[in-house]
Amino acid sequence: MTGLALKAITKRFGDFKAVDNVSLDVPPGTFVCLLGPSGCGKTTLLRMIAGLEEPSSGAVVVDGQDITATPTHNRDFGMVFQSLALFPHLNVGDNIAYPLRIRGASKAEQSARVDELLKLIHLADFAKRPVAKLSGGQRQRVAIARALAISPRLFLLDEPLSALDAKLREAMQVELRQLQQQLGITTIVVTHDQREAMTMADLVVVMGEGRIRQAAPPVEIYRRPADSFVAGFIGSTNLLAVESDSAGRVTALGTALPDVAMADGARAGTLSVRPEDVQITAPGEGALDGTVTFVRDLGGTIETFVDVSGATIVAVTTPRDRADLVAGQKVGVRIPAQSAVVLKS
Ligand code: ATP
Repeated sequence: MTGLALKAITKRFGDFKAVDNVSLDVPPGTFVCLLGPSGCGKTTLLRMIAGLEEPSSGAVVVDGQDITATPTHNRDFGMVFQSLALFPHLNVGDNIAYPLRIRGASKAEQSARVDELLKLIHLADFAKRPVAKLSGGQRQRVAIARALAISPRLFLLDEPLSALDAKLREAMQVELRQLQQQLGITTIVVTHDQREAMTMADLVVVMGEGRIRQAAPPVEIYRRPADSFVAGFIGSTNLLAVESDSAGRVTALGTALPDVAMADGARAGTLSVRPEDVQITAPGEGALDGTVTFVRDLGGTIETFVDVSGATIVAVTTPRDRADLVAGQKVGVRIPAQSAVVLKS
């Protein structure tokens, strides 16, 4: 298995820094998702790992070897891009065999590997099928199998599932993750879909404006976001401005929040609390008081919007917890200290 290290990589286009001093260690066998808003530099970073773009400075290191100057075709990486780029005039088997053929593998080797890969992607009987007669999900799997044909050292994918409809995309996320675990291959996927990243990744790398804002396992990113950019990008959250008073108590919306602590010496920050952690109580029984402004009953979950001194706090509950809330109702809001994180802002 192959490990990857990025060492202070920067990419400039003219005066503009698309990727700004990115360093990252990826242990062998890790599934990494590069996540971030449009234009944050994810694709540019992936292209530099692939050798399709040259860094302005910094190094790409694979298994301890600096490959920054190695041409793409000598890196032995498997790549899948959004466009897939399957060969329309070749059938499924010949598409998958193509990288083996150009490397001079024998017919017998090609055919054995194609059979193996077709089984792996659950398309065992599809070798002779023209690619034009495949569904979107099947094409996706063929593109993945073709990229894996050479047993690549690294598997790189750029928004591989974004052309699929929501339901198929969710199923393919699980399939891709299971395939990666089966093969143990170090994999880097670019996505702007946080749910996709949470489903698949061992390591989520959240990028903003060319820089890494946080790199951590998905649940840590969710529970302990480094700052409000990350908190707002991963899942939904309530963000409230907080201050500490002279007695060191943390207050939000003019009310003290017992047990919530600020970082050492900080006087102000932003409190992040996930909607599923907010508790709705009887008036006066939470630290904050407010009025329900809207209830969105989604069947499996209920989102309750509460106005607290002009700020909206969203609580998510299940019908079993609270099915009684209606707009106009006076309620209390409790923010459990253990689920509140004070961010730098
Ligand atoms: P998206 O999710 O929209 O694909 P991204 O995070 O992958 O976005 P990049 O494609 O890496 O973003 O682009 C990062 C920034 O660099 C963007 O502002 C883009 O316009 C700019 N950029 C990318 N390629 C070039 C280029 N060849 N020349 C000039 N600017 C570029």
